[in-house]
Amino acid sequence: MTIRVAHLYPEYLNIYADRGNIAVLSSRARWRGIGFEVEPISVGDELRPGEHDLLYIGGGQDREQALIAPDLAARGDAIRESVAGGVAVLAVCGGYQLLGRFYRGRDGVELPGAGLFPHETVAGARRMIGDCLLACELDLGTRATLAGFENHAGVTRLDDGAEPLGRVAAGFGNDGESGFEGARVGSAVGTYLHGPLLPRNPWLADWLLARALEHRDGEAPELGPLPDGLEQAAHVVSAERAKSRGGRF
Ligand code: GLN
Repeated sequence: MTIRVAHLYPEYLNIYADRGNIAVLSSRARWRGIGFEVEPISVGDELRPGEHDLLYIGGGQDREQALIAPDLAARGDAIRESVAGGVAVLAVCGGYQLLGRFYRGRDGVELPGAGLFPHETVAGARRMIGDCLLACELDLGTRATLAGFENHAGVTRLDDGAEPLGRVAAGFGNDGESGFEGARVGSAVGTYLHGPLLPRNPWLADWLLARALEHRDGEAPELGPLPDGLEQAAHVVSAERAKSRGGRF
C-alpha cells in the first residue's frame, strides 16, 4: 500500500520550510508501514487527474507566485476533477491563494487561480503576521485545534456558503474580520498556517493520510496512534503564543 503524492512547484513555493509538511506525512505513513512516493510537479510537467492520492502546494512571495500562477491555473480542470474524485489536497498560504479564483497583489496585477476553492484574494496594506489558533471540525464530532504562524498581505474572501477550515480563536485568519480561516472542499484543505503546519498538528496529517488512502483503496483505514508527545508539546507552545495575542473572535 503506497500513497502517491504530487508536490506542486516545490522549488518555487517553499517559504517557511513548508516542505516540512511533506516530511511529516512521509514519516507518519512509513512509521505505519505505508509507502509514500512523492513526485515533484513543476512548470510544464504533466499532472494526470486522479493519478495521485494527495496534492501538496506550499507558500511563496508574490514574485514566486507570479512565476507559476499561469501554469497552475491551466491545471484547474485537472485539480477540480481530482478533488471531485476524492484526492486529498493540502495548500498553504500562497498556494492556498492560487487555488482560489485569483490573487491580486499590491501591484494590482491579478494572478489567475485554479478555481478549486470558492474564494478570491486581494493583497491589502496590512500584513497579517503572527501565531494563529483555529477551532476545527473537519468531520462530525472530530473537534480539534490547529496552531500555526501566518504571514500574508492577502485578504481572502470566501464565497457565501463556502466551508472554512476553522474558526479563528486567535490571530487574523482569511481576512482579519470574518473570524474564519482557510477553506475546505471535499478532502482538500487550504490554510494560511505555516510552521510548517503539520509537525505541530499531527491530527491533520493523519486526516490527510486517511483521505489519501481512502482515494487509493476506496475506504478510510484506521490509522493506529503514534507517540505524539513532542508534536503535542509543540502544538501547546504554538497555541499559547497565539492566545497570548488575545482572542480576536
Ligand atoms: N504573497 C502572498 C501574501 O503576501 C502569500 C505569502 C505567503 O505565502 N506567505 O499574501
